[in-house]
Amino acid sequence: MVVAIDGPAGVGKSTIAARTAQKMGFYYLNSGNFYRAVTKAVLEAHTDQAKKEDIIAVANECNFSIQDNCLYLNGKPVEKVIHTDLIDNRVSFFSTIPEVRDIVNRNLKRIARHRHVVVEGRDIGTVVFPDAEVKIFLDAHIEIRTQRRFEQGISSLSREKIKKTIRSRDHSDKNKPVGSLKKAVDAFYIDTSYLTIDQVCEKVLSEIRKKQK
Ligand code: C5P
Repeated sequence: MVVAIDGPAGVGKSTIAARTAQKMGFYYLNSGNFYRAVTKAVLEAHTDQAKKEDIIAVANECNFSIQDNCLYLNGKPVEKVIHTDLIDNRVSFFSTIPEVRDIVNRNLKRIARHRHVVVEGRDIGTVVFPDAEVKIFLDAHIEIRTQRRFEQGISSLSREKIKKTIRSRDHSDKNKPVGSLKKAVDAFYIDTSYLTIDQVCEKVLSEIRKKQK
């Protein structure tokens, strides 16, 4: 079974998707981390001057695997080093490149094959797994998403700057020529603004159980 969870930045997708996967005993795939890993590799190879061809060439060389539920890039664990302000800033642009999306999507499908998975991102229910048995679209007001990111304490930016970054990522994510952020017509919509993590998880799990019957 494929459970696709999509939604904008800072909505709580990773927490909800990881918990859902753990409760169901499913494999967890965070597609944003794949784009972040490509961005890291590009920034290391070319600083900030990379041209589109350079970005595609680096993405093509990326070897992704999952070990102990964590993303490895070219044999090294990367999850702890891909949530920086610099990567936040560049990843939305790098992920607009259709060839990069193609590479990430192929890897997601390869890893998900023959497994029960929870996959999260922006275009999972619309593009990557349009036949997913369960599709969820998470949403929340921008003020609330800003507050959640601020409280995570990962960013060194002020609350106002975090809000600006989220707004600009929303704009770029919604306006991508391919794989833009949108709710699949058959996705179950959850506004998480005033719900606890447990309440959101319960709604997601209930959708999965319905489909399992
Ligand atoms: O989910 P996260 O915010 O970590 O994703 C990082 C970035 O990767 C997003 O801002 C978005 O631009 C891009 N992304 C995407 N498609 C996905 C997942 C993430 O374009 N399926």
